[in-house]
Amino acid sequence: MSPVTHFFVGWAVANSVPSLEKRDRAWITLASVVPDIDGLGLIAEILTRNSAKPLTWWSDYHHILGHNIGFAALFTALAYAFARRKLLTSILVFISFHLHLFCDLIGARGPDGDQWPIPYLRPFSTTAEWTWAGQWALNSWQNLLITASLIALACFLAIKRGYSPVEIFSRKGDATVVKALRQRK
Ligand SMILES: [Zn+2]
Repeated sequence: MSPVTHFFVGWAVANSVPSLEKRDRAWITLASVVPDIDGLGLIAEILTRNSAKPLTWWSDYHHILGHNIGFAALFTALAYAFARRKLLTSILVFISFHLHLFCDLIGARGPDGDQWPIPYLRPFSTTAEWTWAGQWALNSWQNLLITASLIALACFLAIKRGYSPVEIFSRKGDATVVKALRQRK
């Protein structure tokens, strides 16, 4: 699924325990987006496309480097080190990360019909690759519906609890968004 959908999935997980602090919510939300960090190679690939030695980092590494149990363990350990409520946050980080893999499994078919198998056991083993034959497309109505529902949930939570996902980027921006949402109600 798209990074936007992953972001709001992570936000929903981060809000499953209302007593968590802002920092821990940010880690849990980030965990649902971070596997796609392996897609950043796209920039290098586009920039060097017409050069003598084009880099193929995106083609080679997207859905490989970040979409596996090794990276999940690494990121969970990092979250454990920095979170306030360490155990609870790292459990939710681990879940949030795996929801990313699950979402990609069910709804990330490329425009060319590419299945994007998930090499889950890397770097320990390259034998297992997850695919699901029923996988729907990245731009399908299912993904749009899921994304719209999650954004609606985020708005509902913002009105109720007084903070929105914007808090991850700016406290001031968050206050503005919450105020606007509460006035609309
Ligand atoms: Zn992904």
